[in-house]
Amino acid sequence: MTAPAILRIALDTPLRRLFDYLPPKIATHAAAIGTRVRVPFGRQRLVGVVHSHAERSDLPKEKLKSVIEVLDAEPVFDAQLFALIEFAASYYHQPMGVVLAAALPKLARTGAESRRILTRWFATAAGATVDLKRAPRQHAVFAAIAAAPDGLAADALDALGDWRTPLRALVARGYVSSAESVEEPPAPPADLILKRGPGLSPEQSVAVEAIDAAHERFAPFLLYGITGSGKTEVYLHAVERELRRGRRALVLVPEIGLTPQLVARFRERFTAPLAVLHSGLTDTERLAAWRTCVSGEARIVLGTRSAVFAPVVNLGIIIVDEEHDASFKQHESGFRYSARDLAMLRAQRAGVPIVLGSATPSLETLQNVATGRYTRLSLPRRAGQAVPPRAAVIDLREHAARQGISTPAVEAMQRHLADDGQVLVYINRRGYSPTLACTACGWIAPCRDCDARLTVHLGAQRLRCHHCGADAPLPEHCPQCGYAVRHVGQGTERVEETLAALFPGVSIARLDRDVVRKRGDLEEVVGRIASGAARILVGTQMVTKGHDFPSVTLVVVLNADQGLFSTDFRAPERVAQTIIQVAGRAGRGTKPGEVMIQTEYPDHPLLKSLLAAGYDGFAGTALAERQAANWPPFSYIVALRASAPTLPAAVEFLAHARKLARASRDVKLLGPAPAAMTKRAARYHAQVLLEAAERAPLHRFLAAWLPQIEEIKTSRDLRWSIDVDPIELF
Ligand code: ADP
Ligand code: ZN
Ligand code: ZN
Repeated sequence: MTAPAILRIALDTPLRRLFDYLPPKIATHAAAIGTRVRVPFGRQRLVGVVHSHAERSDLPKEKLKSVIEVLDAEPVFDAQLFALIEFAASYYHQPMGVVLAAALPKLARTGAESRRILTRWFATAAGATVDLKRAPRQHAVFAAIAAAPDGLAADALDALGDWRTPLRALVARGYVSSAESVEEPPAPPADLILKRGPGLSPEQSVAVEAIDAAHERFAPFLLYGITGSGKTEVYLHAVERELRRGRRALVLVPEIGLTPQLVARFRERFTAPLAVLHSGLTDTERLAAWRTCVSGEARIVLGTRSAVFAPVVNLGIIIVDEEHDASFKQHESGFRYSARDLAMLRAQRAGVPIVLGSATPSLETLQNVATGRYTRLSLPRRAGQAVPPRAAVIDLREHAARQGISTPAVEAMQRHLADDGQVLVYINRRGYSPTLACTACGWIAPCRDCDARLTVHLGAQRLRCHHCGADAPLPEHCPQCGYAVRHVGQGTERVEETLAALFPGVSIARLDRDVVRKRGDLEEVVGRIASGAARILVGTQMVTKGHDFPSVTLVVVLNADQGLFSTDFRAPERVAQTIIQVAGRAGRGTKPGEVMIQTEYPDHPLLKSLLAAGYDGFAGTALAERQAANWPPFSYIVALRASAPTLPAAVEFLAHARKLARASRDVKLLGPAPAAMTKRAARYHAQVLLEAAERAPLHRFLAAWLPQIEEIKTSRDLRWSIDVDPIELF
């Protein structure tokens, strides 16, 4: 193969283009597409990825610089994965380099080897002739090395105690030389399967066989099953079939910190090496896990969002657990993408089946089932003997409540506790109370930097903003008039206190982000519930994430009303999902469960359809509403957002951008409008919404518009971003 004249390199810069370089003067490796290279860039050196080869550049040859070195002997991205990354860059309108940066672990982005390199030391001829008796430690190390004709690696030298210092001396004196080689991954275990799972229910069998029959071709499935219906068991069986074919599995989960149980279940079942990729890893751990993907050692890759880019070799199946979960969408900063949607594309490109699992599928996914694009597999029953819980509404306008807990709820709790059951109390707010108010002048503690109130954290004696992190001492008196202050409303901390007063002697556990701060905290709380040491669990959404508490028989949803009246068109979907997910914690064991939902709006159509016809009933109503209002999935939207230290600055930028846009019949522009929470972290937010009936014209429109927006001269403190398929319209 002749060397290409020009290498087109993707670099992590904000510029939406590739950069031309000449091949390196001395090439150690061929600069194949998908390999990393180190290049000079201005005064820096950057690591980029070879995107393509070209015959000529638009720049004169004298202006082109040479690649400094090619870092990989083999591409770190195969053609399919590279194509996915390229697609992601164009679909989300990001520079290719930015997407590549998200796809590579940090250390790989700074040039770390993609494979583990093994150094071996050999005795030299010079070493063989010298007498080292006067340096006993050097002598011992040398003797060990000289006795090994294939050389010795670090792990063999470790037996000699501190060998590094004497070895350094031996190398310096020329008695020992070293050679480096790529460490081959250990041979896979003879059997990748440790244990067979339980016999499957008929519905589980149907699901596993359908997925299995689709092997080696693209086939999207929705595995729709209530919590506890045995979805994970289906994943395990489907993965097992692929492992037996010698292929690998990619399993995506929303938040790995919250799902240690899933990792444990894979480890329990398989001897197949498992790579776990999530944001809680150190850079070194992340690099090590990524390397086991590159080398092919890992047979199962389990990870959060960015693991959708993991370089899995010989991919056989993709699983997206809890596909409805919002954390699959990166929506906060930088490269905003949906890992679930990219997983779908990756499966398509790789020609493999993909399973989206959920008890509460997103409306998008349900619509894809309705149009026949995805195959629905249902697990309508609970595994084992468990039966679905009974649900009832408590009308808060009719029943007295003590600190947010109604009398019927208290009575039900007494009943279940007396019956040896456990009780889960859900409230979607952490802290003690969401409001601190003056008893005299009406002052309410505001966040200085947000359109929000500060939350009382009584235990910590702090006032905190849950939007920007502002943190201040908790005052006892009104700063405005000096009168006493009052804590208004409830959060988990206060509910825990109230329950302790209502049920003296009953052990209570709390689960929220204030309790779970470091590794092991979650396991500790979950352990207390699982062992029965705690009888009541109070928690936020965190309680819904994948835990199996078989003895919980009663779930009380303290307040279902937040979100029922939000301006965000996705809010009802999220409320329904949370209620169903929380309710699903009840009655997972052999005892039947009961769910009580407290609300001031028992006649709200959403609650009514949810209670009368379950999530399916709700989804039908909600999809019809979306269609009537022309919201996704019946249209496609993109948000152009801006923020600045003043609202006019943000709005002005957006208005300017809007003026630059060419009129289009296919794309509707709305705004600029201030965001629902306009002021956040001392910045003002506004947005322009783009809406279209088809994707293609919307993307053509964006491709023409974005370069124009980039040309707008802005002050340095203005920030803007583009969000394709936004899931939150703040
Ligand atoms: P999901 O993922 O839908 O919440 P799981 O797969 O975790 O459901 O199953 C719930 C519980 O039922 C688990 O304890 C699991 O081990 C058990 N289980 C699942 N399928 C079976 C089966 N076919 N036979 C016996 N137990 C099963
Ligand atoms: Zn006051
Ligand atoms: Zn704030």
